[in-house]
Amino acid sequence: MSASHRQATAGPHRVLILGAGYAGMAAATQLAARTRRADVQVAVVNARERFTERLRLHMAATGQQLAELDIPELLAVTGAQFVRGWVTAVDAQAKTVRVDDSRELRYDTLVYALGSVTDTAAVPGAEDHAYTLDGPSGAPALADRLARLGGGTVVVVGSGLTGVEAAAEIAERHPGLDVTLVGRQDPGAAMNTKARAYLRAALTRLGVRVLSGAPVTAVLPDGVVLAGAETVAADVVLWTAGTRAAPLAAAAGLTVDERGLVVTDTTLRSVSHPDVYAIGDTAAIRQSYGVLHGTCQSGMPTGVHAAVSIARTLRGRRPKPFRFGYYHTPVSLGRNDAVVQFTRPDDSPRRGCLTGRTAVWYKETVSASPWPTYRRMSRLPSSGAFWPRGGRFTRVRDAR
Ligand SMILES: Cc1cc2nc3c(=O)[nH]c(=O)nc-3n(C[C@H](O)[C@H](O)[C@H](O)COP(=O)(O)OP(=O)(O)OC[C@H]3O[C@@H](n4cnc5c(N)ncnc54)[C@H](O)[C@@H]3O)c2cc1C
Repeated sequence: MSASHRQATAGPHRVLILGAGYAGMAAATQLAARTRRADVQVAVVNARERFTERLRLHMAATGQQLAELDIPELLAVTGAQFVRGWVTAVDAQAKTVRVDDSRELRYDTLVYALGSVTDTAAVPGAEDHAYTLDGPSGAPALADRLARLGGGTVVVVGSGLTGVEAAAEIAERHPGLDVTLVGRQDPGAAMNTKARAYLRAALTRLGVRVLSGAPVTAVLPDGVVLAGAETVAADVVLWTAGTRAAPLAAAAGLTVDERGLVVTDTTLRSVSHPDVYAIGDTAAIRQSYGVLHGTCQSGMPTGVHAAVSIARTLRGRRPKPFRFGYYHTPVSLGRNDAVVQFTRPDDSPRRGCLTGRTAVWYKETVSASPWPTYRRMSRLPSSGAFWPRGGRFTRVRDAR
């Protein structure tokens, strides 16, 4: 720790990480391992002890059991402290966080990693009448409803990859239900011709009806209304279109964008509050090709980068700019099929893609990898620092 820093604070430097999702866990395991011999206290606040495998929520939504991944057990070997609770407020001036409205935690450096939620405020009725995959209650509640439905129609709104994965999974697990996928764009619109055609054929094989170019303007108790006033009847509506951040960051006075995401500088610090790092889905992180869209693929590297930057700062060095380039888009199409689109760093599709059993294996390997990665990073912190930096797509002058 730098001498100036020791003078400024009495006792250990307190790093508080809010959210133990994909990005927060990467930050926690890296930081605890990198500051083991320093006078640093790392604590992680999360709503519950069980890790939410968001990548598999479409499976949970169809009643499939997910692994019990215990956050405190994993953190115990790293030395990071776990605090179970719901963050209700951040006071960025006083540098405190309220948990469950009853406890107050102090920090010297904050890592804000609370993820995002589905944007049900986008159209009237979505909040009241549609299911989402959010949180531990969203997917199980939908699973319960689908299991009791017997027959009928499910409308999945949002033709992005979450919508595609959910529609395919529901159609495969509940062949007695009619599943319609509704969205502005064709499913797989960002993929190359071969991958897009494969995805579309898989949806047809599973019996999913696709209505694209059809923005939903309202959700009713018994269906959805499309632009042009046509209605599609539904017993269940699942809303997957768009994400936004919780209002907490804006309420704390952090600079946020139009979706409530914390705007960061090149090193992932809040542009308004440099003692706050923002990572994962909840951060608006700009690269030369645009603002990152929420993925685990980019979220984990942001967590590692924040940890490396905090460790550097505590040694009196400057944090480096964050650089990241995408490399793939893996999409499951039920349990027995998948498609993987390989991408350029700016997320545009390359010629290469995988389909069928190889793609199923690839997707499963990706989905299963975070937990062993956290374990490995807590033993070998440098192993976490390898991710595609994006080459010429993200090259910047280092502010060393
Ligand atoms: C069905 C589905 C499939 C996906 N597939 C892929 C994929 O194949 N590849 C890919 O890269 N990405 C995929 N994604 C996106 C990926 O899941 C997200 O980008 C990733 O979860 C973001 O990680 P995060 O750590 O920012 O947020 P999260 O993983 O959402 O973690 C946020 C954490 O904060 C906690 N939290 C939130 N608010 C509070 C609060 N107020 N108090 C306490 N705790 C709180 C939450 O409980 C959670 O533990 C998929 C998403 C979905 C929904």
